[in-house]
Amino acid sequence: MSRKFHLLIAGGGASGALLALNLLRADAAKKWTITLAERSGHFGGGLAYGAHNRAHHLLNVRVKQLSCFADEPGHFHQFLASTARTVTPDDFVPRSYFGEYLAHCLQQAVQQSEGRLQLLHDEIISAVKHGDEIRCGTASGVDITATHLALACGNLLPAPPAAVSASSEVAAHQAYEKNPWHYDAFNHLPAQADVVLIGSGLTMADLVCELHSRGHKGKIISISPHGFLPAQHQPPQPAWPSFGDEMLAAGDLGTQLHIFRSQLEKAAAQGIGWTAVTDSLRPYLQKLWLQGNDGWRNDFMQHLRHLWGVARHRLPPATAAVVYECIARRQLTVAAGRITAIEAHAGLLHVHWQPRGSSETQTAIAAKVINCTGPSSKWLSEGNTLVKQMAAAGYIGYDRSALGLNANETGQLISANDEVQHNIIALGPMIRGVLWEITAVPEIRKQAEMLAETLCR
Ligand SMILES: Cc1cc2nc3c(=O)[nH]c(=O)nc-3n(C[C@H](O)[C@H](O)[C@H](O)COP(=O)(O)OP(=O)(O)OC[C@H]3O[C@@H](n4cnc5c(N)ncnc54)[C@H](O)[C@@H]3O)c2cc1C
Repeated sequence: MSRKFHLLIAGGGASGALLALNLLRADAAKKWTITLAERSGHFGGGLAYGAHNRAHHLLNVRVKQLSCFADEPGHFHQFLASTARTVTPDDFVPRSYFGEYLAHCLQQAVQQSEGRLQLLHDEIISAVKHGDEIRCGTASGVDITATHLALACGNLLPAPPAAVSASSEVAAHQAYEKNPWHYDAFNHLPAQADVVLIGSGLTMADLVCELHSRGHKGKIISISPHGFLPAQHQPPQPAWPSFGDEMLAAGDLGTQLHIFRSQLEKAAAQGIGWTAVTDSLRPYLQKLWLQGNDGWRNDFMQHLRHLWGVARHRLPPATAAVVYECIARRQLTVAAGRITAIEAHAGLLHVHWQPRGSSETQTAIAAKVINCTGPSSKWLSEGNTLVKQMAAAGYIGYDRSALGLNANETGQLISANDEVQHNIIALGPMIRGVLWEITAVPEIRKQAEMLAETLCR
């Protein structure tokens, strides 16, 4: 009789759901049982696609790129059609639709799985290795023994900026919001109040849309080191021929930049936009990051990370329209600069900042200051109970760029002593430092498929 395996997945957001669904599909021999544990009880949604997201919080990936299964690219679109929503495969739909889709796929999979997939409303808080098994504990006191454990715990809250951590009064102030995804923070905000958004990426754009939908009238200032706004998605372009192998062969960042620029020029000469060139490089990003030595990575992080973020993580057109409308009517200012200090004065926060390239200090007085600087990478100190316990047990450590947990290319975690955990894996944003381009759904789905294949071998 063939051996049976049990995978426990900690986290039922997009990453956990995609792994469960792809493993069930790949497991023709029915060797696996899967427990998908989600502490909120809402499966499939997670932070990005849960029902707390509003209609104006849009996916920044087109419907046609978001199927759960590589061999059924129309699957998400078919689901949307079955709910009587009129959308095309090229649309950018509300993020909560994708959460609904994942929840639907999971429910269907549970029904068809003959008990091989179970959804557990609980938080996994501990994991201890015993021979080939892992004994896990949950917040409600249940013990679960699994042969494999997958961490799919998602994103951490942003780390506090230096100006916030320097003052415990500011950090605890009612006008400071450390969680940029807590949209209810605006519930009691007077319509004329001024708002400071620290950061200028996709989260900032989401918050501008949120304020806009509430009819907010006060000024909004976004402050970030470069003041770059994410680029906007362009209408679908013809595919640009791949030049990824040439980039890989070049090795050094300077030559790679040169190749990239000349591809942009070639495309422009043929009337093809830069987005097609950027997109053709996407399948090679993990390989480029993996082959980069420390010097390459440092240079990339220092000089190109922001520009790449702007080009790669784009605004859906409807989101961009709101942002540009707010800029045009001078409600929103997107400033490049450095926040030097924040002071609390009664119910308001005074944000002192220096515009980029200037030594002059300006002050923005705001009734809300929101940290939109992007998820923290300090998993071992700021992570959930499970991750901290696993760090204390010596099972996990940081990757060499300290951007998340260390793992090999397959996702098997690696301890601080370089010991590979053969039956403990992680996927999605938690291993951003290992694969770099692993935070968006298309890459997470690919990792989930690869893991499913590996586990079924
Ligand atoms: C606001 C936002 C919008 C985004 N929009 C897009 C987009 O439009 N397109 C795109 O491609 N990518 C987007 N992303 C990127 C995002 O990282 C991924 O698409 C994806 O959502 C990550 O899924 P996840 O399951 O890893 O994380 P999450 O969605 O954060 O889910 C993790 C889940 O794990 C649960 N959990 C954590 N620890 C435990 C535990 N110990 N036990 C049980 N449960 C646990 C949490 O409750 C949570 O539900 C967005 C990210 C954010 C934050």
